[in-house]
Amino acid sequence: MKDRLRGEYGKKALESRRDPMHELISTILSQRTTHADEEAAYHELRELGDWADIIAAPQEVVAYAIRRSNYPESKAPRIQETLRRIRDAPGGYDLDFLRELPVKDALKWLTDLPGVGVKTASLVLLFNYHRPVFPVDTHVFRINIRVGTIPQMTEQAAHRALLALLPPDPPFLYELHVNLLSHGRQVCTWTAPKCGECFIRERCDAYKMYGGRVPSFSEKKKK
Ligand code: SF4
Repeated sequence: MKDRLRGEYGKKALESRRDPMHELISTILSQRTTHADEEAAYHELRELGDWADIIAAPQEVVAYAIRRSNYPESKAPRIQETLRRIRDAPGGYDLDFLRELPVKDALKWLTDLPGVGVKTASLVLLFNYHRPVFPVDTHVFRINIRVGTIPQMTEQAAHRALLALLPPDPPFLYELHVNLLSHGRQVCTWTAPKCGECFIRERCDAYKMYGGRVPSFSEKKKK
């Protein structure tokens, strides 16, 4: 599948798109939020000042700053507590120790932070520190369930299940993640996937089952 995706969406070089703290906080903001709103929320959050200023700000001020992100009232205290814990950790706001920690320990350290799930932790570890983990977002999850790479399970469980099937090769994992994202946004969409123009349809279980009428993902899950 990776080669077909590369043929369509291109080769991707593994490089950090933003610094680790930006990646971490932005990914918390991105939960259930569009990319444009996530970016707007992050921008306004940073207008409050540096990380210490954001920790010190009243919670409702932080919630207002990130209002473009969904669930700002619950994300604000989580972000402030996450920042507090990072500030108090040995490296402070420098997360580079994650480059050296065993992957299992790095995942645990990150997921122990409030508001940080395995997807957020995996994105930081793969994108910023080039560690062999595979972030499973909604697009990656939906496509792999439809294609039949993995059986029905939670997104959380899919991180481990997919990683067990893939080589522990960060550039490979990065390209596959990014190209699946493109495929999920452009072709294998949540509702009405464009199976007629999908170049992996011959190996897709959902296509075999439903032909060109693959139902929306939520409908499929109810069956
Ligand atoms: S054939 Fe349809 S359901 Fe299968 S991966 Fe392609 S777009 Fe998605």
